[in-house]
Amino acid sequence: MYNLKDMTLEEMEEFFVNIGESRYRAKQIYKWIYDKKITDFDEMTDISKNLRSKLKEIAYISQLKIEERRVSEVDDTVKYLFLLEDNNIIEGVAIKYRFGNTACVSTQVGCNMRCSFCASAIGGKVRDLKASEMVDQVIAIDGDYGKISNIVLMGSGEPFDNYDEVMKFIKIVNNPYGLGIGGRHITISTCGIVPKIYKFADEKLQVNLSISLHAPNDELRTQLMPINKAYPLEELMKACKYYVEKTRRRITFEYSLIEGVNDKKEHAYQLVDLLKGKLCHVNLIPINYVKEIGFKKANNEKVMMFKKIIEDAGISCTVRRELGSDIEAACGQLRRKYLKER
Ligand code: SAH
Repeated sequence: MYNLKDMTLEEMEEFFVNIGESRYRAKQIYKWIYDKKITDFDEMTDISKNLRSKLKEIAYISQLKIEERRVSEVDDTVKYLFLLEDNNIIEGVAIKYRFGNTACVSTQVGCNMRCSFCASAIGGKVRDLKASEMVDQVIAIDGDYGKISNIVLMGSGEPFDNYDEVMKFIKIVNNPYGLGIGGRHITISTCGIVPKIYKFADEKLQVNLSISLHAPNDELRTQLMPINKAYPLEELMKACKYYVEKTRRRITFEYSLIEGVNDKKEHAYQLVDLLKGKLCHVNLIPINYVKEIGFKKANNEKVMMFKKIIEDAGISCTVRRELGSDIEAACGQLRRKYLKER
């Protein structure tokens, strides 16, 4: 059975040609799926009965079930637990910003990157998500929370470890007949899988790129993020330079401040040396609590000291608001839940 939500518009056009139908059926079906949010072929009134029953035999349109929703009591954040077809459970988040509603989407069940501070790393990766499972997170959140105008691929998982499905996801949400969410409203975050940064640069998309940096030197970064052993800072920075040259787009570097670990003055100066003169932005995140891990947030004074050193060097810098931390929906707090028993 084909899941029609796993097809880009071009793929769906090909699909219809292959079953002896007109190409334009794809746009019709796309409209039903993404505009009207219909998943039952029988509701598609401009599709002939014949074609509907033919489709029912070979294809279906997936839907994602909201297993649980947790609503923050301090801000407008909502965390969703989604039940997948194979009974795995993933998490996604809805966040209210001034510029609109943002869906934070998971890209894998679990994650293989083993960052020492992140809840998504606990238990490793179970599997990659299909493009449809990412699209369905956005559609489910949109239906429950309200119109989604922005997407961040910052839930569980490493997007560049699931590159092809993530690119397909972007094509589907991007398409005007799909969800019509523009590239500038989508952000991919990576821990720094260097070959995929080059590949992504060559896609020439309008999508924003964030790099999870978290340490300004190799010794500390390798300690915190094992991926740094495979792709140390020099290589990462070279890839970032290529990305900026190729796309003329600014990169955001995420730096989560952990008390006593990466929050010293010397770290801020090293960070400045690493980023000076580059087309970039620094996003400081006071580390969020994960009970199995036990790192503590850098205190506010330290955060402000860090920010000042970076800004004084002429690098733009913001501190991320900690939305949804009371429901474990903040950065690094998303995780896979145990396989649901039937
Ligand atoms: N795998 C991708 C996408 C995850 S995005 C990546 O690494 O970028 C989630 C962001 O939150 C990443 O920047 C991640 O490094 C950061 N993060 C992880 N654990 C955190 C924690 N406990 N507190 C704050 N940020 C954390």
